[in-house]
Amino acid sequence: MIILKQISKQYAQVNALSSVDLVIPTGCIYGIIGKSGAGKSTLLRIMSLLEQPDGGEVLYGSQRVDTLSGKELLLRRRKMGMIFQNFNLLSSRTVSGNIAYPLEIAGMHNKDIHRRVDELLEMVDIRDKRKARLRELSGGQKQRVAIARALAAKPEVLYCDEATSALDPQTTRAILSLIRNLQEHLGITVVLITHQMPVIRSICREVAVLEGGRIVEQGPVAEVFDTP
Ligand code: ADP
Ligand code: ADP
Repeated sequence: MIILKQISKQYAQVNALSSVDLVIPTGCIYGIIGKSGAGKSTLLRIMSLLEQPDGGEVLYGSQRVDTLSGKELLLRRRKMGMIFQNFNLLSSRTVSGNIAYPLEIAGMHNKDIHRRVDELLEMVDIRDKRKARLRELSGGQKQRVAIARALAAKPEVLYCDEATSALDPQTTRAILSLIRNLQEHLGITVVLITHQMPVIRSICREVAVLEGGRIVEQGPVAEVFDTP
């Protein structure tokens, strides 16, 4: 369970987040929706411990995490994977090289890296591109590589930052369906931020609506959006 209590964040004169309370159950696909400037990225950076809030607390289960530093912070961050709108992959490396990267950093042995990369290529269904360079891939294929890399170290949480916003509708559906299948199979928690309502409707169980740095609504998707 990820718990945010009374989170606030200011940048100069801007209140990016004010009194944000949120509970994200383990093993759920949780959506955070809002217009540009609503505070979504700031919230995601605080949840993923890339940035500290000015006020409030972040808890993973019973552990307070927003105050962690040094080794403890690194260990906690290793239990999270992230994917982005612009993929953030290493263009000089092959598909396999990108997926292997976090495992190399973690000091895994070469033989184990090979085995794990094979497993991940399989999981995201991109085996035939293992040796391809990044520039030879479509956007959807790049996002598959990014998902594999994010999952390489077996995280507990996958954070998705506008992960389908650069993709066409058909590719968006394929990537969302992959994320849903992986979530079901692995039992991880998925938190995704987006400005696209269809994304929330198609895979999220619960949603929070962010406006001007405040949560104006939250609950099961069917209730918040009154879907028939
Ligand atoms: P969203 O992701 O929903 O578009 P953001 O979290 O990026 O929203 O931004 C929320 C508000 O905080 C905006 O007004 C934005 O301009 C401001 N903001 C975000 N990050 C910074 C920053 N690093 N420096 C100054 N202002 C920022
Ligand atoms: P099974 O019992 O079918 O192997 P698991 O859920 O234990 O199912 O794992 C399926 C595969 O996914 C395994 O190869 C495992 O290494 C990998 N895996 C397990 N948990 C995670 C995770 N959180 N992120 C990424 N991969 C994982």
